Amino acid sequence: MARYHIETYGCTSNRGESREIERRLRDAGHRRVDGVDEADVAILNTCTVVEKTERNMLRRAEELADETADLYITGCMALAQGEEFRDADVEGEVLHWDEVPDAVTNGECPTTTPDAEPVLDGVIGILPIARGCMSNCSYCITKFATGRVDSPPVEENVEKARALVHAGAKEIRITGQDTGVYGWDNGERKLPELLERICTEVEGDFRVRVGMANPGGVHGIREELADVFAEYDEIYNFLHAPVQSGSDDVLEHMRRQHRVEQYLDIVETFDEKLDEWTLSTDFIVGYPTETDEDHEMSMALLRETRPEKVNVTRFSKRPGTDAADLKGLGGTKKKERSKAMSELKREVVAEAYESMVGETRSVLVTEEGTADSVKCYDEAYRQVIVQNASEHGVEPGDFLDVEVTGHQTVYAFGKPV
Ligand code: SF4
Repeated sequence: MARYHIETYGCTSNRGESREIERRLRDAGHRRVDGVDEADVAILNTCTVVEKTERNMLRRAEELADETADLYITGCMALAQGEEFRDADVEGEVLHWDEVPDAVTNGECPTTTPDAEPVLDGVIGILPIARGCMSNCSYCITKFATGRVDSPPVEENVEKARALVHAGAKEIRITGQDTGVYGWDNGERKLPELLERICTEVEGDFRVRVGMANPGGVHGIREELADVFAEYDEIYNFLHAPVQSGSDDVLEHMRRQHRVEQYLDIVETFDEKLDEWTLSTDFIVGYPTETDEDHEMSMALLRETRPEKVNVTRFSKRPGTDAADLKGLGGTKKKERSKAMSELKREVVAEAYESMVGETRSVLVTEEGTADSVKCYDEAYRQVIVQNASEHGVEPGDFLDVEVTGHQTVYAFGKPV
């Protein structure tokens, strides 16, 4: 769990983006702190409206870089004049705002705190089903905070899901460091059973999104899991299984619990059992032992499996982890690899959204967006934005059909039919 400090300058659009960064960081278990001196990570969302502002942004970035281990610089100046930060040797990473949450997460799993309780956020109910994980990844600091996996009984989680739906949740987000290993501490693999019981025992109209599940845990339950996904319409056909690398050598160095072959088995099983589903995965680029060949293997795996959602994180050292003692690859190499992979990711993801244009999709409206828009998700958890929401009379919690009219890289646009 990282403690972050965020500063936002400029217009309401920047403020909206910072809000979204914060929401995603909170969902992943990170905590905002007041003041950079208490933070592990600082985020500077910049503005570039006049020259004086530019000078202020540069000065502020230098100050923040001196005061924290990791600095991420985003916003208008970062994107339009990112070289100014580089020319000034500011020790920070320039990123699009959308990439900031993943960079902060550093390839680690989301953090569920030991006393995590279900939380309702609008019509989204967050249900942490277990805490802790079964792994010992070499780069992960989260595991120090959360410890070994500890799974409450299925009944307890079903009861929490029921309470969330009763309180108004339309989307239940099942979370944990690694949802695929739920029950393993008691020698059982309980995720498919939990999903089935939520779908059959909780009354109401709702959708269930299954959160991050490492391939190592999913592999042994892939058949049952895909069967449950196929059987119940309530469950989004969406699996977030972070592979992290296309090279078995790097996976071994990372001490991941899976190998590429197992990841491919999972994809194959879901392809066989589901007509349409969304594969979400993560790659860490620039791990200290990653060679050019390893990187090419990751690129090839991305091309082969064509996930519809991909998080690319440039490796960064976390204090106290084994990977922090390894000699790093150097910023330029990491930057080149991350750029190449991000470009490929955009191509692959855009293709998935492009293929939706002209189709009609059943969606759930989950939250308000910016400028009178709403965010919706279809059955495969693809994001569809409906603009002029008040004119169409749609609001969070509504189920409706939309025609997909266009797309950006990571979401589609639609209008109610
Ligand atoms: S699976 Fe690995 S990255 Fe995730 S919490 Fe466990 S040790 Fe950390």
